[in-house]
This record gives sequence, C-alpha cells and structure tokens, in this order.
Amino acid sequence: MPTVTVDQILAQALAGEDLSPEAGVALLRARDPEAIEHIRDAADRLRHQQVGDTVTYVINRNINFTNICEQHCSFCAFRRDTGEADSYWLDFAQILEKTTDAVQREATEICMQGGLHPGAKIQGASLPYYLKLIATIKTEFPHLHLHAFSPQEVEFIARQDGLSYADVIGALRDAGVGSLPGTAAEVLDDAVRRIICPEKINTATWLEIVGTAHRLGLCTTSTMLSGHIETPEQQIQHLSLLRSLQQTALERNYPGRITEFIVLPFVGQEAPKPLRHRVGRDQPILADALLLTAVARIFLGRWIPNHQPSWVKLGLAGATMALNWGCNDLGGTLMEEHITTMAGAIGGTCMEVATLQAAIRSLNRPDRQRDTLYGKVR
Ligand code: SF4
Repeated sequence: MPTVTVDQILAQALAGEDLSPEAGVALLRARDPEAIEHIRDAADRLRHQQVGDTVTYVINRNINFTNICEQHCSFCAFRRDTGEADSYWLDFAQILEKTTDAVQREATEICMQGGLHPGAKIQGASLPYYLKLIATIKTEFPHLHLHAFSPQEVEFIARQDGLSYADVIGALRDAGVGSLPGTAAEVLDDAVRRIICPEKINTATWLEIVGTAHRLGLCTTSTMLSGHIETPEQQIQHLSLLRSLQQTALERNYPGRITEFIVLPFVGQEAPKPLRHRVGRDQPILADALLLTAVARIFLGRWIPNHQPSWVKLGLAGATMALNWGCNDLGGTLMEEHITTMAGAIGGTCMEVATLQAAIRSLNRPDRQRDTLYGKVR
C-alpha cells in the first residue's frame, strides 16, 4: 500500500472526510517540525470553519463535595480514606454557602463531582443523598445550571442501590441535573484502565452510561486523560469511540449529545508514586498536549465542534497556546479547583473573567461568555 503523507491526510480532513484510525495515528506520530506545523494549521483552519474565531468561556464554580473515595486510581492525588487527617465531606449548608457565593460572582453553572463515599447515604441509600445535593442547589437557585456527577458516580449510585443506569440518570435529571461531566473516561481502553483505574467502570460501561444520558436528554462533555502510559493507537481508539458515540446520538436524534472535548494531560507531581515513577515526570509535556489537541480537532471533525484546553493542567499560557491548535473555548473560572491542584498542577485553582478575556484578546480573537451548553448568556 502506498504511504499516505501527513499533507494528504490533512487534505482529506479539510475536505470534510472522517479520518481512519490509521490516519489519526500517523498524525500523532508526526515528528518533523514542518509536518507538525501543518497539523496545527489544519486544526486551526478546521476550528475557524466549524465554529469561527470567537473564544468562549463559562463562569462556573467547582464543588467537590467529598474527597473520601472507595477507589484507588493510580493517578489520583485527591482521594482519601474516611478518618484520614485531610479527608473532608461538605455538609449541605456548606454546599449552599459556596453556591450562594458563586451566584453573587455571576456564575451560571455549578460543576459538582465527588469521591465515591460509601457512607454518603440517606436512610441507607445513595440516590436520596445525591438528590438532596441537587435539591440544596436547585431549590434556592432553580436557574443555575447543574453540571454534575460523572459516569463513574452514576455507576456507584446504581451499584449501591441496585438500580439501573437509566433509573439513576432519569432521577438525577428530574431532580435538576442539567448535564453530566464526561469525566472518568481516562483512556477508553481496558488494557490501560486495568493499570491506571482498575476499580473503575470499563470502557463499555462508560460508553453505555454516557449513551444512556444522551438518550434520556442530558448532554455530556467528553475528556481524555493523556500523557501517561497510553500509546497513540489507544489515544485514537479513544477518539474513535467518542466519534461513534456522538454519531449514534445524532443519527438516532437523541435529545442529548457531546458538547465538547477536553484533553486533560496527566500531572504526576503528587500522584501516587508507582505511576509517577513509571511515567517519569511531574508536569505534562506541552508539545505532546498541543499535538494531541490538534489531532483531536482534526479526527473528531464536524462531530464534536467545541474543544477546550485545561488551564489547570497546562497553565494559562499553555491553554492560550492551545487556542491556536484547534481549541475555541477556554473553560471556566472554576473558583476553586482541588483535584488537579492536589496532584501538583501549576495552573492555579481559579481564574477571574478579566484574566480569561485578556488571554483571549492577546490572540486578537473575540471573547464571549457562554452557558454550559454553549448557548448565549443574557
Ligand atoms: S479518580 Fe475519582 S474514583 Fe479514582 S480514586 Fe480519585 S476520586 Fe476516587
């Protein structure tokens, strides 16, 4: 078979064709600086074609209601056991206080996720506890968008209470959850998952839960934890699965879909030692993250139009660079970020709106506040 060049692959992508996994891997394996610049340029052009030049951001607050977790993911510096000195579990009054403060700071979204705490129950059941978390926020602030509970948390609730995923998702939606974070995806490859998150849901279950959310009317985001033990082939398989999931949602006219894709480069500094040593560095390699960002824009094509870098993982300067590698969104203000910061990330724990706007304007691109689902605010 004749060798297909990077430029030929990029020409296919710019013509609107879906790339094969082999073509995606060829892009990720590019090492020639000129070829990498062509990949960056193609991603930037596709971004311009698909969503224009405006860079969006959302005013949101993270609330991680507990760091007590039954699992032991090998990249996680956040989890604690019950009773450990720095374990915490917010009560409902604290959650309401943080939400009230977020609203006063013009947040349109609360992003809420937590550890898998087996003791977080009301009358012996998990779901009522999670419903009370939702009610704590939505009763007081019905218009606030609640972006909450990962596919792993959905599985946890279902397992604790003997419910189906659809039962749990339907109940969360009816109580006021507006969308699900597409976290816990890590790398959608079971060989990788057996090493970095052996207790987590497997690839098929992650896809099943996210697909069920779409079918039941909840949008989700999508993510990849990159830059640890995974290969380019496994990264492309991950992107292929996301692309297929989105195609299914759109072809079947599901009321929900994937709104965005976020690359989350692995931060090893405070991660548990075995994985940190295996990976052999503390901070992400920016060049690798940028190339993956560009290839994700190219490979996901028209199916997933919004791409966001993580300023928490890359720092604001790195995230701003990613806006020239296919991204069109700079994420949220977060107000308090714990999970990656506890892993040793350099990006900080919160961002002021003016800081995000200044970063966007430094590229001479227009900025716009968005809501969680990429609609206009006001
Ligand atoms: S990544 Fe999530 S599920 Fe895994 S140990 Fe950390 S808090 Fe628990």
